[in-house]
Amino acid sequence: MNVDKYFVRRAVALAVLVLAVVGGFSLVRAAFGGGGDGAAPPTTPTTAAGEPAPTSTNVGTVPENTRTDNAAQIARANVPVLCYHQVRPMTASDSAAYVTEPSTLDDQLDAIKAAGYTTITLDQYVAHIKDGATLPAKPILLTFDDGSEGHYTQVLPRLQERGMVATFFIMTVTLGNENWLTREQVQELDAAGMSIGSHTWDHHDVTGLRTAKDFRTQLTEPRRTLEKLLGHPVTVLAYPFGLWNRSVVPHVERAGYTSAFQLAEKADPRYPMHSIRRIAVGEESGADLVRQIRGAFPATTPALAS
Ligand SMILES: [Zn+2]
Repeated sequence: MNVDKYFVRRAVALAVLVLAVVGGFSLVRAAFGGGGDGAAPPTTPTTAAGEPAPTSTNVGTVPENTRTDNAAQIARANVPVLCYHQVRPMTASDSAAYVTEPSTLDDQLDAIKAAGYTTITLDQYVAHIKDGATLPAKPILLTFDDGSEGHYTQVLPRLQERGMVATFFIMTVTLGNENWLTREQVQELDAAGMSIGSHTWDHHDVTGLRTAKDFRTQLTEPRRTLEKLLGHPVTVLAYPFGLWNRSVVPHVERAGYTSAFQLAEKADPRYPMHSIRRIAVGEESGADLVRQIRGAFPATTPALAS
């Protein structure tokens, strides 16, 4: 073989390879919205298999003749929903019911994944319960209440490592305070494919609200604050302390919330979308948590179509 020709062929092959790699990288960068300017990291979460994780734009389809009456919505609400509070190293005065150690969260997320669950977004969950939109097999909704700093520093990286998504219910009075999420961190959670909901202004028990001004302060304004921050609608509430009653629901609806999450009480037959059930998670092991999930949300498949 002519040596010059050999080197030319190798140089061409190398150039093609470089172009393919650079081109591929550009495509990936374009797809993930990441910039070469050192600004935002790739924002589309992926599953372990490298597929795009669910986002608010890919809610399932609604099969024909799907029932949307209250009984059907309650039956569909057997999708497990977990409620976490703070995630950070424990101190002596902490309650294991409200603080989860980062290493415990690792164990729990691994156990959830090993048990075959797929995390879903808030939009996917609501579209399923409300309208019967389809979900991936073994769906689960992870929610984190209050808006403490650990949700960004501890929770987000652990979710991203595993290609998982979660929902964060933010109390707006603490935004930017020490040990709490900043506005930018809430924006980054949202941009990373996580879901954001409201948790009132200052963690007020909404059953104690009386005046129009109170409802505005605790329900309408926090929703608007978050919408302005994120540039898209925020329509889901988590009741502080899980407390709610029938007389407060019309106010919650008027304030623009299409659904609301409580804690472990049964869903209300009259207001199923505003009494969605969750189980609280603290320091239990991953194995215990999976047992609890199976106990609280038995996998039944009620025949709802038709
Ligand atoms: Zn709370």
